[in-house]
Parts: sequence; structure tokens; C-alpha cells
Amino acid sequence: MSHDSAIPSDPAAPIHSAAVSARIFRAEKSTLYVLATPLGNLRDITLRALDILGSADIILAEDTRVSAKLLTHYGIKAPLRALHEHNERKSAAAIIDLLQQGHSIALISDAGTPAVSDPGARLVAAVRAAALPVVPIPGPCALITAISAAGLNAEHFYFAGFLPVPTKARRAQLETLRALDAALIFYEAPHRIRHTLSDLTQAFQEPRDLIIARELTKTFETVQRLPLADAVAWLDEHPDTERGELVLIVDTAATAKPRDTTPDEAALARWLPALLEELPPARAARVAAQATGIPRSTIYEKIKERKG
Ligand code: SAM
Repeated sequence: MSHDSAIPSDPAAPIHSAAVSARIFRAEKSTLYVLATPLGNLRDITLRALDILGSADIILAEDTRVSAKLLTHYGIKAPLRALHEHNERKSAAAIIDLLQQGHSIALISDAGTPAVSDPGARLVAAVRAAALPVVPIPGPCALITAISAAGLNAEHFYFAGFLPVPTKARRAQLETLRALDAALIFYEAPHRIRHTLSDLTQAFQEPRDLIIARELTKTFETVQRLPLADAVAWLDEHPDTERGELVLIVDTAATAKPRDTTPDEAALARWLPALLEELPPARAARVAAQATGIPRSTIYEKIKERKG
């Protein structure tokens, strides 16, 4: 049997397939579900997410008009209430009250995973503090989606989210991020991309690569890698990039040589901070020397540099 037979010819048509109507999971009483929704393509939703949305008593959404489209698409009718960044803290008490009365609640954002550069973290903290269950329903997230298609050179990554808007705070943050031995992931609004690319180019003098992951899961999805130094010129040639959603990744350059770190040095970098929390410097240097084979005097010098 062809799998295509299960896909409706009009992808925008509501779906009432057996998989959706036969719910395997039901939302439990007094539980808050933190549930990821599609970034663009409405079919990027898990079966468990549909089970929970279809059986929750209340759905808390950032923008109820945006979420209504998703819910209508799947024939889901639970009452929608708004949870914005500015009313999150105030709403927490009322939501906890509803949970304590036995209601099940699903928290969603406009796109992706709640609490990732979106409202949710404060509410989740308050619900957890009230000793009520919080259950994550994983799914799409723009940063993870971008990383999966970026082919990162760097071994580690750091999610920096949105940069601050004021120039001084922005530059200070970039200066701090520059020191990290990792790919840096940023969210950005399309109308700010030109400004941000120019700040990134100035902040990173050494060769780095940039990945622009745009309109992920949508019709005009593009994932472009280029040298960061060429980014502003590239934007001039691709003005469409200033529209639509995007994730920026500053990776190590494809041509960069791997850092010359021996396994012993890597172990030292990992253990030394922890040892220094527990032991005086001289003892920490002795233990680290025994564990790594690096001379105690060398380690002691490193400890002095860290303090200096
Ligand atoms: N909570 C969401 C998540 O899990 O990724 C992020 C919400 S944040 C308010 C919105 C930002 O996510 C956008 O400015 C953009 O940087 C990124 N984003 C969301 N959807 C995207 C898409 N389809 N393609 C590229 N980036 C996207």
C-alpha cells in the first residue's frame, strides 16, 4: 500500500483520519502539558500532541487567532485562552486554581516549543512550585530544526536567542559570546537581519561561517552557508531574506583547523573548575596533575591565569 494514500490531496484540508480520531493518550486531570506545535508545515505535529490537544479541557495560547488555525485544521474544539508574556506572571495564580480544580491544560505558542524565546517558563515554574504535574510534549523547535540541517563544524553549540536591541548591550553580549568555543545560534526578526549581520561581522574578526536558516518547513525554506565576512553583500543580492522567519548560526569556519587540544588538556579543562570549587589551588593542581599527567607547575600556572 502506498503511504501517499493517507495524505489528503489538499494539505490545507482538515484531517479526520483514524489515527487522529482514535486517541491513545488522554490529557490527565490537574496536569499542565507544555506542547510543541508546527513551525509552518501543519503536518509537523506528533500524534501524542494531537491526542492531548483533543482531550485537554483548556488550551492556553499566545495568540488565539494563530492557534485557532491549527486547531481547526485538526478538528479540535477545546476552549482557547490567551497567555501573553505580559500577563504570564499574573495569570499563573488563576491557572493553578483551574489545575487544582481538576482541569487539564495544554500550553502552546504560536510556533515551536513554548518557553523557548516564548512565554511559558514562568508559568511552568509556578505550576511546579505548586507541586502540580507538568508534562512536556516534544516536537518542533526552530533552533533544533536549523541545527539539524546546518551540518555544523563546531562540536558544541550555544543558543543565544534574540540579541538585545540597544546597540551597547548587543555589542557587549557579542563580545562575551565571542569567547565561546561553540557554534552560536540566534533568533532574529527579519526586519533586523541587516543590522544584526553587520554587528556579527564586526564582532567576529576571525574567519567564521554563517548559516541562515529561513522559512523552515515552509514553501520557501532555505538553509544557506557562507563566510560571515560575505554576509552583508550576500543579503544585498538576496533581499527576500529580509522577509520571513529566520535562525542565524555563527559556526566555526569550514576551513578552520581543529583546536590543538590533547585529550589530557581536554580532561583538565573539564575537571579543573570542579576541583577548584572543592579544594585549595595547590591541592587542586596536585590532584589534576595525577589525573592527567600534565605537570603540576603547568596546572598551577593555569590556575593563576584563571584568577588573574
Ligand atoms: N518557541 C519557538 C521555537 O521553539 O523555536 C521560537 C519562538 S520565537 C518568538 C520566534 C523566532 O523563532 C523567530 O524570530 C525566528 O528566529 C524563529 N523561527 C520561528 N519559526 C521559524 C521558521 N519557520 N523558520 C526559521 N526561523 C523560525
